[in-house]
Amino acid sequence: MASTTIKAYGATASTEALKPLDIQRRAVGADDVKIDITYCGVCHSDIHTVRNDWKGSTYPVVPGHEIIGRVVEVGNGVNTYKVGDLVGVGCMVDSCQTCSSCEQDLEQFCEKRATFTYNSPNKHMEGTQTYGGYSTAVVVDEKFVLSIPENLDEAATAPLLCAGVTTWSPLSHWKVKKGDKVGVIGLGGLGHMGVKFANALGAHVVMITTSPEKGKDAKRLGAHEVLVSKDQDDMKKHQGSFDFILNTIPVGHEMDPYLGLLKIDATMVLVGAVEPLKPFHGGSVIMGRKRIAGSLIGGIKETQEMLDFCGEHNITSDIELIDMQDINTAYERVTSNDVKYRFVIDMKSLK
Ligand code: NAP
Ligand code: ZN
Repeated sequence: MASTTIKAYGATASTEALKPLDIQRRAVGADDVKIDITYCGVCHSDIHTVRNDWKGSTYPVVPGHEIIGRVVEVGNGVNTYKVGDLVGVGCMVDSCQTCSSCEQDLEQFCEKRATFTYNSPNKHMEGTQTYGGYSTAVVVDEKFVLSIPENLDEAATAPLLCAGVTTWSPLSHWKVKKGDKVGVIGLGGLGHMGVKFANALGAHVVMITTSPEKGKDAKRLGAHEVLVSKDQDDMKKHQGSFDFILNTIPVGHEMDPYLGLLKIDATMVLVGAVEPLKPFHGGSVIMGRKRIAGSLIGGIKETQEMLDFCGEHNITSDIELIDMQDINTAYERVTSNDVKYRFVIDMKSLK
């Protein structure tokens, strides 16, 4: 069967704005689900990839890995989904399924490298790469399709597929529990989900922000306290008091001030800065046996668990809905720290 041509938005070079493009989607294979995309979140990683901040971008880049939509076709080997189901696709669309990482439900660390939703070699269409959710439809192996609780607002659920699982996974892996003092650094797409989840897990949540004006929102989202990181006195007050810190800062930065906030044996997990960090003082971790760790999205099983938790606890993202044609302005607003707290594209605007 032939592939189909569909409408998308993408960038043809790191210095170019996003614009309309036609792309190909493969014909539905036996294990595939075809999804009519209704909404797609705008992650800061989309911008890093479009602008080639992490190097390794191949153009055209069609971003988008917070995909929500309805199933419109299934292959004859598919038994989990049927036409009409509300489903999601996150950051991965394939992995080897046989290595030890995949066997432990950690497809994001697949030893043969997971196929990411965009900017990865496309195993199904040789010589091409994967294209993401800034498009009208996608064809994905059913193992990488998530079931979306129908009680949640459809558009506001999209960011759970990346921002949600990326913050849920470390909170769950490091077993954040009731009564822990948890800091979330950066009130953006990831950070606002981190605050919601840490609150739902019963932690005492402190929003650590460079933007004092976000304090009111932080409290509405579930923070018990707000710590302005530029305020030296405030930083001193919280010195040595955190059990766990989730760091979503999207660029390289000074680590020492944040490490000083940790208790003995406490951990700070980096999820934001996929780039060189400023040198930090060994004493910042030696004094207090502290740990710096990292975390990448989450496995498929864990993503489904997070979505089910959100369904039960009625947790979604706080979003600003935009048309596809407004994407370049949205990118400018994200990079100038003006997003409350995730842009989501209404895909009707592209159809
Ligand atoms: P975002 O919406 O832009 O939020 C980032 C927040 O960090 C900003 O709102 C701001 O919050 C704070 N911030 C920005 N620049 C800062 C600086 N120079 N120093 C201190 N704080 C700063 O971005 P996002 O979508 O949440 O993504 C965050 C990062 O995570 C990106 O780099 C993205 O690529 C990465 N990411 C990683 C994974 C993973 O699996 N590890 C998954 C998804 C995304 P305040 O105003 O509150 O300070
Ligand atoms: Zn993302």
